[in-house]
Amino acid sequence: MVSTRAKSEANKTSSYSDRRLAFLTEAQKSWLEKAQRFADRVSLEDVVQSDQSNVFRRDLFELACKEGMGSLPFPSTYGGSDGDYLSFVVINEEFARRCVPIMSSLGVHVLCQEPVFRFGTDEQKSKYLPPSATGKYLAAFGLTEPGAGSDTAALACTAKKVGNDYILNGTKVFITSGASSDYFIVMAKLLDPSTSANEKSITAFIVEQDFPGFKIGQKFDMLGMRGYSTCELVFDDCKVPSENLLGAHGDGRKVALSSLAKGRVTIAAQCTGWAQGALDAVIRVLGKSHNSPAKNDRYAAAIGEMAVLIESARALTYQAAAAIDRGQGDVTLASMAKCQASDVAMKVSTDALTLLGIECSQPDYLLERIFRDAKAGQIYEGANQIQRMLIARDLLKS
Ligand SMILES: Cc1cc2nc3c(=O)[nH]c(=O)nc-3n(C[C@H](O)[C@H](O)[C@H](O)COP(=O)(O)OP(=O)(O)OC[C@H]3O[C@@H](n4cnc5c(N)ncnc54)[C@H](O)[C@@H]3O)c2cc1C
Repeated sequence: MVSTRAKSEANKTSSYSDRRLAFLTEAQKSWLEKAQRFADRVSLEDVVQSDQSNVFRRDLFELACKEGMGSLPFPSTYGGSDGDYLSFVVINEEFARRCVPIMSSLGVHVLCQEPVFRFGTDEQKSKYLPPSATGKYLAAFGLTEPGAGSDTAALACTAKKVGNDYILNGTKVFITSGASSDYFIVMAKLLDPSTSANEKSITAFIVEQDFPGFKIGQKFDMLGMRGYSTCELVFDDCKVPSENLLGAHGDGRKVALSSLAKGRVTIAAQCTGWAQGALDAVIRVLGKSHNSPAKNDRYAAAIGEMAVLIESARALTYQAAAAIDRGQGDVTLASMAKCQASDVAMKVSTDALTLLGIECSQPDYLLERIFRDAKAGQIYEGANQIQRMLIARDLLKS
């Protein structure tokens, strides 16, 4: 039987030495401390409740935005915090480690601001970025469809120019924050009378939640990543004004990739955090007992391996974030970090549950949640199998 203290401390700061600090600048450390203080204020009950009830905590999201996290890596010209991407990565890692119930929505929120910042008109930037920074607006990313997950060329959602508007039809699925968002970055195939709808016609739009013909479809009862309002988006002759075209006709892939190249690094950070949270649980539980089984060689070897894997995932993740901050963001490196960190999170959380046994699979140890969330990490923003193929394709090309 393990101590109840180990449970009650499940989402609190770990006391053992934090090797991350050696990599971080003073500014990055202060973002980490901010994230730690924020996470300390979220009770374990709230963490467990958001997962069990599958209800998104918009109030916590708004609080995080007030602390500058909602728009951390964007310039203050548009309400951002002038931070770098590594700082955003560190926040995500810390939130995942403690299962702070806004983590995934915050990641997607920043992922959606990226294309507005890069491809948006001045009017779009002024309209969508400042309220995204304050938390007045929450954003979601609509790419996946029932028949188009890994194969984005198979998108069936269409857009047709009619007068001064675009008319969108189709359905998006598994959209994080979908049911709670104010605007959506949506990819659709443009039906141009002069050409057939193909991969090159994928075009991006900014759709607001109250545009006529837009509605929220079914809400998903997910295995992991619960509490994020994940749902279907339905476009039924949805009328999108032409000023909400994002980028040029046919730029949809470029727009999506600009988000995903950074988003996959955010996912890698989240996965590193989950793995660290699982190792924290092992150390907390086994370290409590005087006759600690951690002294047993088998346990010690497993714990040592977890630590090695986590540091390797973290190193790759920080390297990918640092490349972004140097203006050399690299989608292949981002894919590598995402694959490695999500596989590490899956392995470490599986091994942690095996080591600690059934008692520690109760929700308030957070381990079983990390285990379920880690599985999503291997799938979303591109399944790892596909990421590996893309990495190979890039290497073979060069
Ligand atoms: C928690 C969660 C949140 C999400 N949030 C969002 C969101 O906010 N916005 C959004 O747009 N989407 C979102 N998604 C969707 C996600 O991005 C997709 O699930 C992902 O891209 C994989 O697509 P799929 O599920 O359709 O799997 P599929 O593409 O059907 O793949 C199923 C399996 O087949 C394999 N496979 C597929 N094609 C090949 C091939 N050519 N060769 C070898 N193997 C192949 C895959 O690797 C995978 O193992 C979310 C998903 C999850 C789980």
